[in-house]
Amino acid sequence: MFVDVHCHLSFPEFDHDREKVIERLTEEQITVLIDPGINVATSIKSIDLASKYDFIYANVGLHPHEASAHINEGIFGELEDLAKSPKVVGIGEIGLDYHYPGYNRQAQQEAFRQMLRVARAVDMAVVIHCRDAWEDMLQILTEESHSSMRGVMHCFSGDTGIAKECIRKGFKLSITGTVTYKNSLLPDVVRNVALADLLTETDAPYLSPVPYRGKRNEPSFVHIVTANIALIRGISLLEAAKGIAQNTFELFRLSAP
Ligand SMILES: [Zn+2]
Ligand SMILES: [Zn+2]
Repeated sequence: MFVDVHCHLSFPEFDHDREKVIERLTEEQITVLIDPGINVATSIKSIDLASKYDFIYANVGLHPHEASAHINEGIFGELEDLAKSPKVVGIGEIGLDYHYPGYNRQAQQEAFRQMLRVARAVDMAVVIHCRDAWEDMLQILTEESHSSMRGVMHCFSGDTGIAKECIRKGFKLSITGTVTYKNSLLPDVVRNVALADLLTETDAPYLSPVPYRGKRNEPSFVHIVTANIALIRGISLLEAAKGIAQNTFELFRLSAP
């Protein structure tokens, strides 16, 4: 019933109790979980985890923090090959992150463009990480656009105006537990776009929703995100969950459960 389209379940934060966390997914009716990579090594871990569970899928990606001027060009071919593994349903996370100083923006942009081309070559949805870089993000998406470009702005953090621009470009918005935080822009976004444009995620182990803020996040908490979307839009939890599951199946071309 619930879907977590972006959860780092293969990260070391879950090494001591991953089995238990996965058991709780069944108890809380999470029926799809997508585990994204941030470089070659973590993409391989995502694929390994997905190979063990029917309802877990993988994304192959290169996080903007991994992009540097010294990046080995061979990495893009390596990631493209990995993307052809079973259970890989998207390219991510990829994108731009200007939040912390010290990262090479030029290198991030170049790596992002290369990964968009990988996604085009394998015809998959892209999973975009964008923080404090919306102008450059939208510009690159315009320059690299093509008819089968599709994807999601994971952990969407923009305002309603940016949300609508992303939707016009064919992207969906994935909502995290930050929707429960005071002063979040997300309730306004959730209210002013169509349900068909929304997805849900935890980005666990990060960004726990209230009342778990400050603790390790886990994917079973995604029902809290879905419940908040239902509340904000004034619809039933079932309607929200069904709609969001449908959006997930379409975007990532999963076969129906
Ligand atoms: Zn991210
Ligand atoms: Zn992430």
